[in-house]
Amino acid sequence: MSIPAIPTTNISFLESVDRMVSRAFQYLDMELTPGLEDHIKACHTVLQIQFPVKLTDGRIHVFKGWRAVHSNHRLPVKGGIRYALHVNQDEVEALAALMTYKCALVDAPFGGSKGGLILDPKKYNDEDMERITRRFARELIEKGYISPGGNVPAPDMGTGPREMAWIADVYKDLHPHEINYFACVTGKPVTNGGIRGRVEATGRGVQYAIREFFRHPKDMKLINFTGGIEGKRVVIQGLGNVGYHAAKFLAQEDGAKIIAIIEWDGAIINEAGLPIEPVRQYINENKGVKGFPNATYIEDGRLALELECDILIPAALESQITSENVDNIKAPLIVEGANGPVTYAADEKLRLKGTVVLPDFYANAGGVTVSYFEWIKNLSRIRFGRMQRRQDEYRGQAIVRALEKLTGQEVPEEIRLELSTGADELALVRSGLDDTMRTAYQEISEVFHSRSEITDFRTAAFVVALRKIARTYMEMGI
Ligand code: GLU
Repeated sequence: MSIPAIPTTNISFLESVDRMVSRAFQYLDMELTPGLEDHIKACHTVLQIQFPVKLTDGRIHVFKGWRAVHSNHRLPVKGGIRYALHVNQDEVEALAALMTYKCALVDAPFGGSKGGLILDPKKYNDEDMERITRRFARELIEKGYISPGGNVPAPDMGTGPREMAWIADVYKDLHPHEINYFACVTGKPVTNGGIRGRVEATGRGVQYAIREFFRHPKDMKLINFTGGIEGKRVVIQGLGNVGYHAAKFLAQEDGAKIIAIIEWDGAIINEAGLPIEPVRQYINENKGVKGFPNATYIEDGRLALELECDILIPAALESQITSENVDNIKAPLIVEGANGPVTYAADEKLRLKGTVVLPDFYANAGGVTVSYFEWIKNLSRIRFGRMQRRQDEYRGQAIVRALEKLTGQEVPEEIRLELSTGADELALVRSGLDDTMRTAYQEISEVFHSRSEITDFRTAAFVVALRKIARTYMEMGI
């Protein structure tokens, strides 16, 4: 799905991430080997590549892309591949760094990486997309930038299961005797080595992050929130894979009201709540939100970020909340579905304002978490739940029988069902994701509340992640 343009900022995306990290280093309560901060922040390698592809128009087209490896303290390194016109080396390095911190935070045992190709996927037909992706994959594989144990890409902006299936297939062709070939990439279609629940994982993770926030009365009190998610007014930027699923789950399952949706061509607003499924369908058919019935349309979509609301979810692009518009942002809670939507300068102001920001490398970690499950599934070559599901059912049925025998009464149908249903792959993935998002939140909140000098969740989250990374490096030695 398309997204609004990136405004220019004083410092680059990478610089913004680095400054946030430096800030957190001040609060790291452990003795570090001198120079370790520089080592952790530095991007290890970047491959820049230009390659030709003969497309269906009969012409040779040259494409330019990157794959950055930020840290390889854990292998494989992990991170998506992005297709977008604005892709550049600075962005890819910033995103690779965020992957390092993200994986550490949620205990996904990977280093950080990211790839990108300058390309507008909407401009090419399926055949051309396949040719471009296969060629890019071949280049990356041949240069050691894709492998099950070294570097494992995944979907990101502009890519999805289809591209991942092509990448896996190219890897298999080049390594016909590699038994683990499926594990060279995650986010594949379920029918081609993927895992149930991966497509919606990032959006689901955003929902679980918000749910966990609402389970922490002390945190809710920071912004005078009461009650639950039900009825809370949400503004969401980007109805792509992350934003769509987050909005859908929050509205359908938790009763949130999505009062505004911002897309590349503007924003639509309806105080009574927008229906997510019809809006998504409308965007697919009309390539934008303009003209969606029963909603107010504004052309300058970014203005909708400034609406009065309870939760703002920027789920599109980096650098959307900058020093330019931050003073107008009214949402007390910002949940970063995208990577880097708030710049360093804006972040400083939000902290002073008392806005709670659930940072990107926590809030959108659901994707890589379920990628981790997929990678394990590929290596073990067995669907989660295949061995235990029926066994759990038998045990549940035995408990029902025992209860009935002991009480002389029949167990009501819904309880019988609950007790005697074994978990399938999707249920297990959700449970693993929920547990991951809750545990990480609790670690962040614990640091936030136990250290009075730390006054925002982003810094607290970096402290949690940096502690783990620093410990690994110091135990390992350079
Ligand atoms: N592209 C996603 C992210 O930014 C997922 C990465 C992955 O699954 O490896 O986190």
